[in-house]
Amino acid sequence: MTEHSQVIEEYLLLLYKLDRSREKAKAVILATRLETSPPTVHATISRMQRDGLVKVKKSKEIYLTKEGQKVAEDIAYRHNLSEYFLCNTLGIPWYEVHQHAHRLEHAMTPVVVKKLAEFLNNPGFCPHGTPMPGTALPKNTITLMETEPGMTVEVAMIGEVLEDSVDLMKILHENLIMPGNHHKITEKSEVMRSISLESKDGPSALPFHVAEKIFVIEISRD
Ligand SMILES: [Zn+2]
Ligand SMILES: [Zn+2]
Repeated sequence: MTEHSQVIEEYLLLLYKLDRSREKAKAVILATRLETSPPTVHATISRMQRDGLVKVKKSKEIYLTKEGQKVAEDIAYRHNLSEYFLCNTLGIPWYEVHQHAHRLEHAMTPVVVKKLAEFLNNPGFCPHGTPMPGTALPKNTITLMETEPGMTVEVAMIGEVLEDSVDLMKILHENLIMPGNHHKITEKSEVMRSISLESKDGPSALPFHVAEKIFVIEISRD
């Protein structure tokens, strides 16, 4: 596999994540998410187009080619594996590992990736519940926004987008909103634009824009 620069790898990973969360990838969105200017994004995307990694639709939507997808999956795998290692072996809190993994993922050679995966017994998910590339969450997974009061749910995955904010991740941690934990939906308020939850440790509430990025599985219903 050809080696790509860290910048190209970051673009590929972001395009992959947007596609996985069924979000449209346009230059403006990339510019905001990568904290850079639209002209820079256009220049990089042109280069990636030339290298056969992405294509741009008439609607300006950017998508990965087969080759781009292959490289992106490789980076996503390195990212998830790094997070798992940092959290489960080195003991860095799950809400902080994303930023560290973001640096590590670009530095791993194929041999290191293979050995690390073996050492960790080939984990299937990152600490935020993101499945490894090529696998998916169960079909009955829904977002917290799609739940109804009275439902008890198990948290399956914290959307990748949310990992970018350590402060937000900390709040989720303090409210026990992490993969494997159970919460009961007690209220959904359009006025407050928030969802109220109840766990064994007490109540918490999440704004709608966060709730739509949290994936859960229904366990039971009143
Ligand atoms: Zn991450
Ligand atoms: Zn993760």
